[in-house]
This record gives sequence, structure tokens and C-alpha cells, in this order.
Amino acid sequence: MSVLIYAENADGKFKKSTFEAVSYARAIADQGNTSLTAISIGNVGADELNTLAKYGADKILNVSNAQLKNFVNQAYASVIAEAAKKEGADVVVLSNSFSGRGLAPRIGVKLDAGVIDGAVALPEQNGGKFTVKKTAFSGKAFATVELSSANKVIALTPNSYKIVEVAKAPKIEDFSVDVKESDLKTILKDIVRSTDKVSLPDAEIVVSGGRGLKGPENWAMLEELASLLGAATACSKPVSDAGWRPHSEHVGQTGIAVSPNLYIAVGISGAIQHLAGISSSKVIVAINKDAEAPIFKVADYGIVGDAFEVVPKLITAIKEYKT
Ligand code: FAD
Repeated sequence: MSVLIYAENADGKFKKSTFEAVSYARAIADQGNTSLTAISIGNVGADELNTLAKYGADKILNVSNAQLKNFVNQAYASVIAEAAKKEGADVVVLSNSFSGRGLAPRIGVKLDAGVIDGAVALPEQNGGKFTVKKTAFSGKAFATVELSSANKVIALTPNSYKIVEVAKAPKIEDFSVDVKESDLKTILKDIVRSTDKVSLPDAEIVVSGGRGLKGPENWAMLEELASLLGAATACSKPVSDAGWRPHSEHVGQTGIAVSPNLYIAVGISGAIQHLAGISSSKVIVAINKDAEAPIFKVADYGIVGDAFEVVPKLITAIKEYKT
């Protein structure tokens, strides 16, 4: 047995969720007393590649092919599967990110592997059984699933596993691949950024607003709170449906599922469809003027009050704390 981790990057920099996945993969390799290889695809510099060493990779495969500069689902899946075969890896780990969720089943097919997406804990290996705890039903529940296949693909939920530093001195090898025409049916030509703000799926803190905020003009205070906390902004579905906020911020069953350390819900009632997207959050803080709002049933901390009074006070308190 050996383990392969796909080290996802954004603009040549590894994401925090990548370091979590490397730490997680290191722990799986240690469970099996085996080695961990990381594979990076795209234009990642040597210094950045070396950061993977800190989290326990024994070897790093670097793929820098012009055709693979930008993420292409089919082609990346083929390369990762090829690397797994070459390394004799029977466990492939990736982050359960937007691209990871697309890659996992494709790699699974290529390796005839069982696939777990949304893993939230290390596998348990007892009496030949390999089980993994994962989120289920859009985050409304957890399931422990047994993988009985020889090969396994596991996509780790961001923010669910702690980054652990382990000193290693890995070899960095170029991994050259012939990209098949059939894998390049979809080509990402350009990325146009709509914002430079913290990316919502990777955010450690999320400040989210609902219909209780009355209108888009009232988002300035949430933006200010988010910027003070280094947080991403999010919203409920009716807010994005009404065009108060972009759809990319819509959280829930039909939007993005987030798993931050802190989720601050302001003027959000806590409908089941919204909760589906936030249930993996470590700490939920709710601000709502209705003490009976369902959000308080899942909140770790609740403030019953008018958002237009509470949020400015919170901003003032954070500013005072910071000075
Ligand atoms: P509301 O339910 O209107 O709640 C507003 C809250 O603000 C209330 O609790 C109120 O007490 C509070 N409030 C009002 N004024 C203030 C104030 N001044 N200060 C503080 N609090 C105040 N919803 C999602 O969010 N995500 C989804 O992915 C999603 N998917 C759906 C899929 C389906 C198939 C369906 C049927 C629905 C879906 N919904 C989704 C909609 C969901 O059912 C709710 O309607 C929605 O989440 C409610 O949004 P809200 O909490 O912003 O608004």
C-alpha cells in the first residue's frame, strides 16, 4: 500500500485545504506504515513545491505541461490516475473542493476504486475493514461508509482535518505525461476574477446575511465585519434570487456547502435547506431578532436582537479589540 495526494493549487500557490489534505494523507500513510507521494499539476514553482515537504510528503511529482496549465477535469484525472499506477498507490486523497469533487469519481473509474467524497475523519482500519466517516444528505447527516475495493479515492472536506507539520526532505521529480486529445474536449481558456475577496468554499470565517437585512444597501456593514475578520461573505438563497448578492455567495442545499471554523448568520431564519450547507461549520453564531427562529437550534452562540444594532456594536468591539 502507498498513498498519493493531489496537491491542488490556485494561481501557482497551494491552498490551505491542500495542506490539510497532505496532513490527512500523511496520517493514512502512517496508519499503513507506508510512503506518501504528492502530485502537483500546473505551473508551481520549486519554492512552493517544497512547502509540501513540511506536511509529510516523501516524494513530490511535478507536472508542468503547457496543456495542463489550467484545470481540465478529464486530463487532470488521467494524469493523477497514471501517477497512482506508477507509484503503486492504492489510496488517492484529494480535497473535496469544486475541482476535487469533479476529479474523485473520474479517478475512481480509471482505478476501479471505491470513492468517498466529503470525508471528515481519518479512515478506521479494523479486521480488514476500511471505513470512513463522511457527510451525507447535503451535510444534514454523517455516514460511516466501508470501502471494500482494493483501490480507494478519498476527498477530504476542507476545514475538517488539522494541518500537522512533519519535517521531510522529499525528492521532487518531473512527471511527464502525454495528454490525450480525448481528454482535452473542454479547455479552460481564461479565468476572470469577479473579486479579490476570500474564497467562500475555503474560508475559515464566513459572514452571511439573509432576508432580515432588508435590502442590498445594508450589506456594507456585513462587508465591514467580514473584512475585519478576514472572512468571506455569503447569503441565503432568497437574497441571491432577489439579486441583492451574487449567486456565487448563495449557501445551502442548492448553493455552496461551507465548512468554516466560524459561520456568522445575520438575519437568516435557518431553513433546513440553508442549514444543509452550513452543518459542517465548527461554530455557528446567529444574530436574529426572533428568539424562536430555527437557526438558534443549531447555533453555538445566539444573539437575539436587531441586526442593525448588533452588527455595528460588534464592529466597534472588534476594532477596539484590534487596537
Ligand atoms: P427568511 O426566512 O425570510 O428569514 C429572515 C430572518 O431574518 C427571520 O428569521 C427574521 O426573524 C430575521 N430578521 C428580520 N429582520 C431582522 C433584523 N432587523 N435583525 C435580525 N434578524 C432579522 N435557502 C437557502 O438559504 N439556501 C438554499 O440552498 C436553499 N435551497 C432551497 C431549495 C429548495 C428546493 C427550496 C424549496 C428552498 C430552498 N431555500 C434555500 C429557501 C429556504 O427554504 C428559505 O426560504 C430561505 O433559506 C430563507 O432565507 P432567509 O433566512 O434569508 O429569509
